[in-house]
Amino acid sequence: MVSRFVIQGDFRSGALVLDGPEFHHMVRVTRHQVGDTVRLFDGTGREADAELTFVTRHSATLAVGNVETIPEAVGPRFSVAIPLPKASRAGWLIEKAVELGVSRIIPLKTERSVVDPRNTKLDTLRQCIIAASKQCGRSRLMELSPVVSWSEFLCRECPDNAVNVAHPGGVPFNSSHVAQSLAEAEEQGRSQKKKIDPEMIVAIGPEGGFTIEEVTQSVTKGARLVSLGPRLLRVETAAVMMASVFLSAQFES
Ligand code: SAM
Repeated sequence: MVSRFVIQGDFRSGALVLDGPEFHHMVRVTRHQVGDTVRLFDGTGREADAELTFVTRHSATLAVGNVETIPEAVGPRFSVAIPLPKASRAGWLIEKAVELGVSRIIPLKTERSVVDPRNTKLDTLRQCIIAASKQCGRSRLMELSPVVSWSEFLCRECPDNAVNVAHPGGVPFNSSHVAQSLAEAEEQGRSQKKKIDPEMIVAIGPEGGFTIEEVTQSVTKGARLVSLGPRLLRVETAAVMMASVFLSAQFES
């Protein structure tokens, strides 16, 4: 597979000078040389092949070919609202979410959240999104939303989207549940003449779990409680499992 590099700013056919971290990755880490072809993308679905034509100590010049727009995937989107776990586990979560096609991660602040992600942490996680997208061939970057409180999250997303709250004792979160929730959300969208497909959003609690009040609040707002089986999963495992179930439900339909 051709190596992929992300570019920011103006992206068009012709000469492009690349510096900074992507130059470093292209020339110092993956050791590309003049004459090599690489793939460039801008994270919004635009991609192009480019030939490396000139290299200096701090920059590379590329001849960018035809810039194509990769069509956006049709169908329902899947997002994860989650209190971010600590550093390396958050990086792992982000990497797997990108690979599994998650549309957005919504960092949650709940009663028992322990990690309060500051801007610097979110910036580091954005670098993880870029690295994972380069590796897995994703053209559109996964969105990392600003941190939101549980109440704000519920007010914003219920009842327009299919919000499923992972909580022991809920209904099994399997592919038939996904298909049924999406069908109901689509029906509701049609009756309200909405133009975009519904989004399935799963909400996962912190290591200490949701409080009873938070669970009750979500049900009152129209969210569904879903179970992930008999064992208690860590938050990032729960996210990966739910994204996998959603993905396999799309393959089956
Ligand atoms: N002591 C907590 C409790 O009893 O709720 C455990 C929390 S668990 C480590 C973290 C979060 O992952 C939970 O709040 C829930 O959202 C999700 N989760 C983990 N395992 C689950 C399961 N088997 N069923 C439903 N949700 C689960």
